[in-house]
Amino acid sequence: MNGSQGEGGLSQAEVAARRARDGWNEIAAEKPHTLLATVLEVVREPMFLLLLGAGTIYLLMGDLHEALVLLGFVMLIIAVTVFQERRTEHALAALRDLSSPRALVIRDGVVQRIAGREVVCGDLLLLTEGDRVPADGVMLSANDFAVDESMLSGESEPVSKLPVAGGEPLRVYSGTLVVRGRATVEVSAVGEATELGRIGKSLAGTGSGPSPLQRELGRLARRLAVVGITLCVLLAVAYATLRGGWLEGVLYGITLAMSILPQEFPVILIVFLAFGARRIAARKVLTRRLAAIETLGQTTVLCTDKTGTLTRNRMEVAALAVGDEVLMLGGGVKLDALPETYHRLLEYAVLASETDPHDPMEQAFLRLAGDHLANTEHLHPDWQLAREYELSSDLLAMSHLWRAPDRSHQEVAAKGAPEAIADLCHLSPEALARVSARAAELADRGLRVLAVAHASHPGDSAWPDIQHDFAFRFIGLIGLADPLRADVPAAVAECRAAGVRIVMITGDHPRTARAIAAQAGIDGGRVLTGPELAAMDDATFRREVAACCVFARVSPQQKLDIVEALKARGDIVAMTGDGVNDAPALKAAHIGIAMGRRGTDVAREAADLVLVEDDFASIVEAIRLGRRIFRNLRHAMIYTLAVHVPIIALVGAPVLFGLPVLLAPVHIAFLELVIDPTCSIVFEADEADAGLMREPPRPRGAVLLPPARLALSLLYGAVVSLLLVALHVALLRSGQPADAARSAVFVALVASGIALVFVARTPGTGGTARNRVALAVIGGTLAALLAVTVLPAPAAWFGFAPLPAGHWLAACAAGLATLLPLYAVRRLARPLTA
Ligand code: ADP
Ligand code: MG
Repeated sequence: MNGSQGEGGLSQAEVAARRARDGWNEIAAEKPHTLLATVLEVVREPMFLLLLGAGTIYLLMGDLHEALVLLGFVMLIIAVTVFQERRTEHALAALRDLSSPRALVIRDGVVQRIAGREVVCGDLLLLTEGDRVPADGVMLSANDFAVDESMLSGESEPVSKLPVAGGEPLRVYSGTLVVRGRATVEVSAVGEATELGRIGKSLAGTGSGPSPLQRELGRLARRLAVVGITLCVLLAVAYATLRGGWLEGVLYGITLAMSILPQEFPVILIVFLAFGARRIAARKVLTRRLAAIETLGQTTVLCTDKTGTLTRNRMEVAALAVGDEVLMLGGGVKLDALPETYHRLLEYAVLASETDPHDPMEQAFLRLAGDHLANTEHLHPDWQLAREYELSSDLLAMSHLWRAPDRSHQEVAAKGAPEAIADLCHLSPEALARVSARAAELADRGLRVLAVAHASHPGDSAWPDIQHDFAFRFIGLIGLADPLRADVPAAVAECRAAGVRIVMITGDHPRTARAIAAQAGIDGGRVLTGPELAAMDDATFRREVAACCVFARVSPQQKLDIVEALKARGDIVAMTGDGVNDAPALKAAHIGIAMGRRGTDVAREAADLVLVEDDFASIVEAIRLGRRIFRNLRHAMIYTLAVHVPIIALVGAPVLFGLPVLLAPVHIAFLELVIDPTCSIVFEADEADAGLMREPPRPRGAVLLPPARLALSLLYGAVVSLLLVALHVALLRSGQPADAARSAVFVALVASGIALVFVARTPGTGGTARNRVALAVIGGTLAALLAVTVLPAPAAWFGFAPLPAGHWLAACAAGLATLLPLYAVRRLARPLTA
């Protein structure tokens, strides 16, 4: 054995020593990109190939100077891009770490949750249903334990595991899935040394195809590329035939290609999504699939859990009922002594709970018993737990079988949903009616109601396989209060205003569900239960699912059916879930949202988002962010398209009109350096405005740039182009030398780009003046412009004649003045793009 120092697990010092010896618990396929890999990726981009091509042509033409300046730009752009990508990647890696498997270990005698990669050899690992095993290990103890090893063996049947088989301790393997029960395991191998590491597999990739948005942008980029290449060839040929000189012709072809090339598009999307993921991480929402946040903005139906998501999952015993007697507790009333009538009820509720429970209901029982049963004969520290029967979706009840040293028989304690316990007790119809009425009464107060029963089992006979085989006797009911989270009603109201229907799906009693729905502001006029749903034919089911907002006593399979029915109606469905059985529904939903606290690894792996605090309000926050991303992305695209038009015009027009050439690759490179941050980080930073959550979700299939907006964007570009080309012609006509005209037009071009930032937004949303990133980028742009046009050395590289201050300002003002016609166009076009 590796020696985990007995029950208490490893100490911090041992952990450190073992980590130094074995490294982190991760395998190569999951390690982040190296710097070199990122650089290589960047230099494969067409933009750099074009820049290099242009540099080569300059060299061929014998213009070493120009070639070197371009090379400088290549370096600069590579540096900026790599820096950006690394930052994005770090942000994503940090998120991935948080949402990847976690491990429950005992260290220094304390049970603690750590990241999977922190596990070391010798750690004592506690595995429960739904866990992804984080490392290879040897089983020390187990209870009804089974794992799915299909990812190692290809065998899809779960394998039951006992701690020891045939004298050999059994092993569990990293990457496999606990589908049932519990076990304690001592870690024997981590990282590459595990079976999984040896076959070099990774669990990381959740890779699902590109999102509609990604596809739309890809399509747009491809179209532009085709247009671009055609235009470049035409321009190169035109130049060569009109003016002679093939090398120059190719050079201007390349200049044009650089100005048309849509290399910003994919960058914009990634930056928006990665930054969005970071923003929402601050609200404790982790993003496992980047595009999910954006999709969330389109959500029309949000299906949510009740317990723990809408409520706080802090249970407090609020009512006890035995026979016809009811005792209401809590609400600030302190009970002096618990009447004897209720002692047995509480006693068996505790016996049916874990001794060291995670479940908040069981914790509440233990607390109350601690207050009132201490020093009575109702607590049994000396009893031995012999067998557990777990809760399942078929039978909402669980039992514990206890061996009492002083008795000849064994005691069985059961607790669960009242109807399940009533079923186990074979209650007479009258008794059943009384219990149901009492349970309904408590549930109407919003309490979760559990029933408790007991049975005795002869000490010498074998244990039955199912709970039904015990002769249970009914004891009573316990009502548990689980208060609503404070911010839920406001968040629900916000969703309503935003046209998002909230549907509550719970395993709880229909009346409890209705009461909580009423508190939250969810439409609980009609509550459907699992059994009712099961009795419906398909058409009725689909109709009811479309209308009803509260579903109770629902099984995981029905959760999936509800998602599918909503999807079939054309809804965009977001769904929360936590259990192993929720995984299919989470996968099926457009956006699956797993609970970080209660959620199992299986649910997290199936989900697109993970809520660290299980908090409903942060889902609504994420919806708002999704809408904001879409809107800002739209503005960014309108800007990006528009800003390229005048560049293309200023490259092409002089050749066609026989004027001195205005722009060369180095100018385009400069412009790209300015445009990139503008179209990505500036628009990304636009805050959400109040209107965003007052409009209905955008229609399904709504594209980022519908024809009207596309046309508008190109129109903006055309207006600016016209003015700038006219300026160029006017300057040359008035006798300005070509270099001076170039400087003035370039200044005006950059300034008109700033004007486009203002005009690209839909009226009434966001504002440049309120966006600090925008102000910083605009300031930086003007500073850089000033530097290249005024400082003698850079001005010489760019072929700029120094401008007198008055001229510089006039050119800048002329560029900014394009705002006026642009605003006019925007106003005129408003009815078209509303
Ligand atoms: P929810 O959808 O509100 O999270 P659950 O699926 O957790 O509800 O639980 C559904 C029902 O199962 C509960 O209303 C309760 O009757 C029963 N139940 C849940 N947990 C326990 C438990 N630890 N012991 C007994 N019964 C339980
Ligand atoms: Mg649950």
